[in-house]
Amino acid sequence: MQTLHKHAPFLLISIILAATFAIAYGASGSTDEMDKTAHYSVRFDALDTRIAHVQAEMTLQRGTIKMLAWGHPWLPEGWATFVENLVVTDLEGNPLNISPITEDGWGSWTVDAEDGTRLSLSYDVRFNHDQYDWFAAGGQDSRPSYSNGGLYLVSRALFFYSPYAIDDASVEFLIPEDWEISTPWPLIDDQPNTYFVESWSSLVSNMIVVGNHLRQVVNVDNMDVILAVDPSLEQHLGDFEDTLRLQLGSYSQMFGGAPSVIYLIAIREADEIEGESFHNSFSQIVIGDRLNQRRLIWANVFGHELFHFWNGANTLIGIEKSRVEWFGEGFTEYYASLTSFRTGILSEDIYHNKLARYFARYHISKHRWPAEPISLVEAGNDKPTNWLYLYGGGATIALILDVEIRDLTNTECGLNDVMHLMVRRFGDTNTRFDVDDVLDAVNQVSGSDFSDFFDRYIYGAEEMPDIAATLSKAGLVVDQYGDEFYVRRNPNPTVEQEAIYNAIFVREW
Ligand SMILES: [Zn+2]
Repeated sequence: MQTLHKHAPFLLISIILAATFAIAYGASGSTDEMDKTAHYSVRFDALDTRIAHVQAEMTLQRGTIKMLAWGHPWLPEGWATFVENLVVTDLEGNPLNISPITEDGWGSWTVDAEDGTRLSLSYDVRFNHDQYDWFAAGGQDSRPSYSNGGLYLVSRALFFYSPYAIDDASVEFLIPEDWEISTPWPLIDDQPNTYFVESWSSLVSNMIVVGNHLRQVVNVDNMDVILAVDPSLEQHLGDFEDTLRLQLGSYSQMFGGAPSVIYLIAIREADEIEGESFHNSFSQIVIGDRLNQRRLIWANVFGHELFHFWNGANTLIGIEKSRVEWFGEGFTEYYASLTSFRTGILSEDIYHNKLARYFARYHISKHRWPAEPISLVEAGNDKPTNWLYLYGGGATIALILDVEIRDLTNTECGLNDVMHLMVRRFGDTNTRFDVDDVLDAVNQVSGSDFSDFFDRYIYGAEEMPDIAATLSKAGLVVDQYGDEFYVRRNPNPTVEQEAIYNAIFVREW
């Protein structure tokens, strides 16, 4: 199920469109005076009712209220399939007529009131999402689930909104006394169990865990990471924390510090290993049995989802998500396994196997006769079909760029500097990027022109770079037979080869 933990970026396409539109709309002036704050109160009476009651207040915009239109298994009413007893009134309690939008509504209603009206919504959410097949919608880690007395929620299952009408929100939880709450949001002073949500994206794209779960707060730099863990995994809490410290520590060094944010990692037991990234949280499911022996698998998923905070889910976001999937997924995967190797989670043999698998996936994707090869940029238009290519090809491109940049800069700079520059240029300024922006960053860091490389291997469909030739510069030997690749270290490297190897795989970042 490697394919499916990667669906969060689909969701982000629409988030980006929505955000862009909101900015354009705001510029027209018509929404400037609108109250764009929403309030939600979410009440759970007991776990076994499998119901939450929600009271919400928000401003009506475009005559519409809705739930998120994606991330569900293409149910005609979308996430609202699980909503019951929806009643909408104005703030004086006068009922307002609502009618469902049946054609491509995906869970939206028109409301018979003027735009700008403050609405009061009352509804129940029934958590029987597990009765539907979520396979094509991100997998079981992408929907609400119960485990051992805890409810592992995705926030999009809970919240109605009116389009472009929410800049921030407060969310209050009313829960039984013995329940815990874990969210990726800060508490509001003097308001019990009430959280401040700083954006619409954060509201509809995050994890929330309520009920019985283990909760541990881990601090790395300025980042407060909340581990919300299934009680059945208690004996592994230390492994999760150690893994987090190793990987987040590496990413933090690479990006010049972890940002001052709350980040939530929800981990529950299931029958597979998988992960899904959200705005400032991720959901991970693991197999409880032989968890120690499977660390090489779950820790890589863990590192992958965590890296998405910077690349794909929060900090670096493409103007058109599909065009940079190879970067969002491939480079994220490259850094997940590279970090696992550098920190000792993966042995050298296993890491070399992993590299060989990236190359194989890349090679196979380029040789699917009679299908015509497509470019990495185009491949993002159909992620489920092209995931081998995006992950394998993208990770291979990342490694090749890393080695080539080290080679060109006498090992002083590498792909880390490209990532860091991208984050400074686009993440820190909340600007979206495109493929040429990656090229610009590579050119600047390397002091060389990679236009031809990008034309051939990123924009171009036909060719693959010479993997063996580039890796030999880092003292790695690659042997190939068809789609079989074998990677090993050159036992007698030159001084230059050894220096590049050390810069990428050994030297402190
Ligand atoms: Zn991913």
